[in-house]
Amino acid sequence: MKIAIIGGGAAGFFSALSAKELNPGAQVLLIERSAKLLSKVKISGGGRCNVTHACFDPKLLVQNYPRGHKELLGPFHRFQPQDTVEWFKVRGITLKKEKDGRMFPVSNSSSTIIDCFLSEAKKLGIQISTQAKLKAIQKTEIGFELDMGAEPPLTVDRLILATGSNRTGWEIAKSLGHTVQAPVPSLFTFNVPSFPLVELAGVAIHHAELKLEGSKLSQEGPLLITHWGFSGPAALKLSAFGARFLAEKNYEASLIIDWLPNLTESELRHLIETEQTSNPSKHLGSLKTFPLPKNLWKELCCAPGLSSQLPLRSLGKSAMGKLCEKLKKDRYEVRGKTTNKEEFVTCGGITLSEVDFKTMESKHCKHLFFCGEILDIDGVTGGFNFQNAWTTGWLAGRSSTSP
Ligand SMILES: Cc1cc2nc3c(=O)[nH]c(=O)nc-3n(C[C@H](O)[C@H](O)[C@H](O)COP(=O)(O)OP(=O)(O)OC[C@H]3O[C@@H](n4cnc5c(N)ncnc54)[C@H](O)[C@@H]3O)c2cc1C
Repeated sequence: MKIAIIGGGAAGFFSALSAKELNPGAQVLLIERSAKLLSKVKISGGGRCNVTHACFDPKLLVQNYPRGHKELLGPFHRFQPQDTVEWFKVRGITLKKEKDGRMFPVSNSSSTIIDCFLSEAKKLGIQISTQAKLKAIQKTEIGFELDMGAEPPLTVDRLILATGSNRTGWEIAKSLGHTVQAPVPSLFTFNVPSFPLVELAGVAIHHAELKLEGSKLSQEGPLLITHWGFSGPAALKLSAFGARFLAEKNYEASLIIDWLPNLTESELRHLIETEQTSNPSKHLGSLKTFPLPKNLWKELCCAPGLSSQLPLRSLGKSAMGKLCEKLKKDRYEVRGKTTNKEEFVTCGGITLSEVDFKTMESKHCKHLFFCGEILDIDGVTGGFNFQNAWTTGWLAGRSSTSP
């Protein structure tokens, strides 16, 4: 049996290794159009490669996929982050967990992962071709004829498309009967022109809630103030879940921030009123009641109609209302986005209902398989995108060897 895998990225490598391991007799060809293999793995996680996430319950794990959560539940019962950890362990690579759940090789270097894949491929006898671009495809009675720009075409029995968010891969899939959900970026940060908090760039907030006005989209978590707007886990997650909504709005939206999501407005009022009674001459800006960075608190107290110099006794009904509004429904006008250089992915790809997630085989074209980012699957930041590549790659590789 001859199996061709198109794309020498994370998903392509994992599927090739899984196929050859399960069926050593098969001829496995890995075809990459560029001169470099695993180039995204190399730069991933700031060069450290955030391999996976320490979330070992498939039901919780799928919640990190704005697209693909329903379809990945079954696959994660078969190959999940625990299996990823084990897979690397068996090959001599220990993954460590960071406080936020992200997992990296203990070496802190993506080269460890790349070297492992390359040596495994060599050991198993996978044939790798670089600078070999698949241009078009012809389905035959028993398999496929691949147009690699030379005559005769390459004939194979099984085909795994692992071309990531590359247009050619999607065009080839379309020529075999598939539809593609339009690609738009996911995982980006929000730009706010004339940003009023620019002086606070670099300040991190432990816990805030972000909402996109005009939608039901909201996310909670750590937030980072940047020179141009907002970043950090909560902003990145919101960009992922709101990827389509924001693309349709041309990245122009109102962002509503709740700086104290753990407190209701009446709890907030009560805490301030208690301070007013016990410390009436204290200035509003020097209040330390809330878990917010000091300089951010001072800035929030300078909203129109307020002043950080205001003694608490002078905080009347109207000013109290303005303060609560600022703390619970602070509003920023987003105009544009900035790429997150740590990790970014594409929302969009092969329509998921056209793929059998037990095998990753196409429902439209027998013996054609998909894995990785070519599918309309993407995760939030934290190692979830690679986990999609490992899981779907593992399934596609194994299934492709079935008679
Ligand atoms: C800067 C950055 C950092 C990231 N960091 C992380 C991280 O730390 N953790 C995480 O989980 N995710 C991370 N991601 C996301 C992750 O890298 C991707 O989700 C993952 O690489 C997708 O793997 P893939 O194999 O599906 O696609 P790709 O890695 O894109 O591989 C596809 C391959 O197919 C090749 N190809 C395309 N068309 C053809 C063709 N016609 N013929 C032959 N070859 C072709 C391409 O050249 C490419 O090598 C990061 C992404 C970026 C951009």
